[in-house]
Amino acid sequence: MGSQLSEFALIRRFFTRPAQRARLGIGDDAALIEPPCGGLALSVDTLNEGVHFLPGTDARRLGHKSLAVNLSDLAAMGAAPRHALLALSLPSVDERWLEEFSSGLFALAGRYGVELIGGDTTRGPLSISITVLGEVPLELALRRDGARAGDDIWVSGELGGAALGLACLQARARLDEESRNALVQRLEAPQPRIELGLGLRGLASAAIDISDGLTGDLGHLLERSGVAARIEYARVPRPAAFSRLADAELERELVLAGGDDYELLFTAPAARRSAVETLGAGLGLPLARIGAVAAGAGLVVCDAAGAPMAQSRSHDHFAAPRP
Ligand code: ADP
Ligand code: MG
Repeated sequence: MGSQLSEFALIRRFFTRPAQRARLGIGDDAALIEPPCGGLALSVDTLNEGVHFLPGTDARRLGHKSLAVNLSDLAAMGAAPRHALLALSLPSVDERWLEEFSSGLFALAGRYGVELIGGDTTRGPLSISITVLGEVPLELALRRDGARAGDDIWVSGELGGAALGLACLQARARLDEESRNALVQRLEAPQPRIELGLGLRGLASAAIDISDGLTGDLGHLLERSGVAARIEYARVPRPAAFSRLADAELERELVLAGGDDYELLFTAPAARRSAVETLGAGLGLPLARIGAVAAGAGLVVCDAAGAPMAQSRSHDHFAAPRP
């Protein structure tokens, strides 16, 4: 859509809100903030059209998801989100698209008191890169390297739902319209588990958010912690739609290795089991204990009889194609 809107008018109209916490927000060469007295958690994530989302994805949901995937990283660190920077590459200026995109982004930002304090706007293939800043006392940050043998392994919510939504969009899976819409919503509008991350400070020994699939992301945590783990496939919570799908092989692939759920995976000492359960109940968020950390290296996924299962690989942008 042709438009006379200049870059600066676009930034002013769609992305500038009055600065609240920041000393200086959008409009200067850099934003200015007072550094938090505890610690600062920083992270950046990019979504490229055709790689991270399908062309034609609803702009409002895309605005939400672009920020949600970044807030999920802060949640996995136990950080309270504070500020964000948005680098946007746009093929053209489509005012309606920008209106929807920014409203989705600001709706989620408002929910967590996140302030957009700067960014960059360029012309190019559609790409959204957001940098987030959050606060966390350094000694309470949830890192990947704290898991110890004997710890329980927990996940929030359900896994495989976003990947099943994508499979529906790609016609790899067939479901009734209602299930399909609910699953596509998980894919396009994930909920960052901020409150859980904050509640896990001082309780979890390690944490990671599941962006690329359970086995791969758990694998990263195990590697960083220098430990092994055993999880039970049947205990991994998944959407009820999988039972209607009745495709055991696809189910296993999506539940173990499907990406985009943005749930938290964390470890905690077995002695803290009831504290974890109390936290989940208080948040109204199901937390499932799916296995345990052990000494050594490697991950074993067991079936209900305790026998090891063949594993699916998680998503990796640069991995060689599957044999
Ligand atoms: P400079 O050329 O000095 O880098 P810009 O002209 O790129 O500055 O940006 C002007 C102001 O608008 C800066 O404060 C920048 O942080 C902000 N800004 C630019 N693009 C965005 C965006 N997409 N979202 C939020 N702020 C933006
Ligand atoms: Mg610039």
